[in-house]
Amino acid sequence: MQPLTEEQIRASFVNVPEVDAERVPMPGLHEVVWDEREYLGWHDARAPQRAYLTVWKGDRPVSLALRSNPSIRGGINAMCNLCHTPQPGAQVSLFAAPRPGEAGRNGDTIGTYICSDLGCSATIRITPPPAPMQLPPEEILQRRIEGLQSRLDAFTDGLLGAA
Ligand SMILES: [Zn+2]
Repeated sequence: MQPLTEEQIRASFVNVPEVDAERVPMPGLHEVVWDEREYLGWHDARAPQRAYLTVWKGDRPVSLALRSNPSIRGGINAMCNLCHTPQPGAQVSLFAAPRPGEAGRNGDTIGTYICSDLGCSATIRITPPPAPMQLPPEEILQRRIEGLQSRLDAFTDGLLGAA
């Protein structure tokens, strides 16, 4: 993904009031390897059930606040709805994103199961070793990247009411 600055991220929240966006704790952006990410996701270290996700929509960044519910895991065998990686249930959590504006303030949210650590980009880059009867690892990775990007797009479109 294209690199982002803290100012860009703060200005791009769609479901957080502006005053609160100023207080969102930022991740260490200097450590981010942007080329190996489809989205930026991070937790509030002081309130781990609060999480944030930033993604590019065309030429503009869109940031979302999410709430995870640690008591709702994905079952014994779960799958992240963004990267589609099957995972042990404890590694996938239900995240709820308030809808922008009045609807969100009234408690209207969109929920989806996502890797608990918001590490989809790292997860999809773990490719199996080359094997006969199987796509080459770089092609597997390319398909995973495209899948993750299109599901991210659909998720943000749904939240923004554009779908
Ligand atoms: Zn994932």
